[in-house]
Amino acid sequence: MQSGNRPQFSVVVPVFNESANIRELHRRLTEFFRPRTDSFEIVFVDDGSLDPSYRILDELRRADPRVRIIKFSRNFGHHIAITAGLDFSRGDWVVLMDADLQDQPEDIAQLLEKTQEGFDIVYGIRKERDDPPMKKLSSWLFIGLMNRFAGAEIPLNSCVFRVMSRRVVDHLKRFRERERYIIGLMSWLGFRQTGVEVRHAARFAGEAKYNLRRSFRLAFNVVTSFSYLPLRLASYTGFLSALIALLLIVTLIAKKLIFGIPVEGWVSAMVCIAFFGGVQLLCLGIIGEYLGRTYREVQQRPLYVVDDSNSDL
Ligand code: UDP
Ligand code: MG
Repeated sequence: MQSGNRPQFSVVVPVFNESANIRELHRRLTEFFRPRTDSFEIVFVDDGSLDPSYRILDELRRADPRVRIIKFSRNFGHHIAITAGLDFSRGDWVVLMDADLQDQPEDIAQLLEKTQEGFDIVYGIRKERDDPPMKKLSSWLFIGLMNRFAGAEIPLNSCVFRVMSRRVVDHLKRFRERERYIIGLMSWLGFRQTGVEVRHAARFAGEAKYNLRRSFRLAFNVVTSFSYLPLRLASYTGFLSALIALLLIVTLIAKKLIFGIPVEGWVSAMVCIAFFGGVQLLCLGIIGEYLGRTYREVQQRPLYVVDDSNSDL
């Protein structure tokens, strides 16, 4: 489809078990763009859905040549799906949004309007967020970590829903690290960025795929992929405990030699062993995390495997 001449807009949508949302999303996106332009495409990335999502996408693409599908061979995760969508997208402007209609397709208007002022990235900021409290909390914690460790300046309520220019997408495509958080990478990238308020609704249908464990994992990834602070903390802890141990030894010797007080036996020994054992394991664990990450990166495996697609890269 239209290779050579780029569409004006691409909408990139990661899909994982969203069969109840896809048609509605497609309808509202088409309704949104039709009066504005004919030159748009919707890039759906089926991230190994186990429900009929792919069948529905396939039907849509038969009926609408603007629909492009990248079907993964298995589930690779939200941010990898977004990455594939960006890789395949061709539009001069690329809109990123989830498939669950928590973000309103009609709000793309506000995002696009802001790009007129010369911004390369315009992200949505959720006014009233319709998520369970736990989800909000983990998301705030997460963005807080990004800001602290990745040197990002991301408003707490900003979301994946956003629009970016072709040059931003082209730069993002050069990032090939495996552990990735798109919002963090985009913030790292620079260019002129801003946010506008968007609405946020509960899911149209289906269940959220992020649970606490996943969110925690993602938060940990943020800290370790953008900073060496945990490694440094390990060194600090080691240094501090060595210092405490040294002071203890000096005190014990002083007690014995100057005051003749006998050194108390096994209790202090046990406490020391447990303490230092713990510190050493902690430090080893932190080093191991980075080593594992380095190993994953040097393996240079592809980020994702495409099973079927009606699009060329
Ligand atoms: N998603 C995906 N792969 C996954 C999990 C989620 O492509 O492994 C998609 C999902 O279909 C949705 C978006 O990522 O379009 C956000 O997922 P979800 O709504 O579960 O996250 P939340 O809104 O709770 O952050
Ligand atoms: Mg959602």
